[in-house]
Amino acid sequence: MEDCIFCKIASGAIPSSKVYEDAEVLAFDDIHPMAPIHVVVIPKRHIPTLMDVTTGDAKTLVAMFKAAQEVARSKGVAEKGFRVVINCNKDGGQVVFHLHMHVLGGKKLKDGLA
Ligand code: AMP
Ligand code: ZN
Repeated sequence: MEDCIFCKIASGAIPSSKVYEDAEVLAFDDIHPMAPIHVVVIPKRHIPTLMDVTTGDAKTLVAMFKAAQEVARSKGVAEKGFRVVINCNKDGGQVVFHLHMHVLGGKKLKDGLA
């Protein structure tokens, strides 16, 4: 995807502060952190939104969850706790249309989700 910023980060065309990488996924620090720890986990393959996920993406989705575990461990919040958020489409607050998880932590996060 030529115009996708996260595809460009996945290919290395745009630099990022890498936290974790494997064959399927990349995790990097969010450029506008909303918490002391704010890491974005993306599949290397372009999937626009959560609504585009299919059964064929199962391996990639497991890799994203495993990456979130690795991020939590390496950032020291695996035991203390953290939050994973996926924004979908306009009302969900999605700005970058390449599927991603936000991994947030490093403080007691606010109660409630909306
Ligand atoms: P969303 O609103 O769920 O689409 O989240 C997109 C996230 O990507 C936001 O938290 C942005 O701060 C983050 N972001 C956008 N561009 C970059 C970048 N070049 N490096 C790191 N994070 C980015
Ligand atoms: Zn993309």
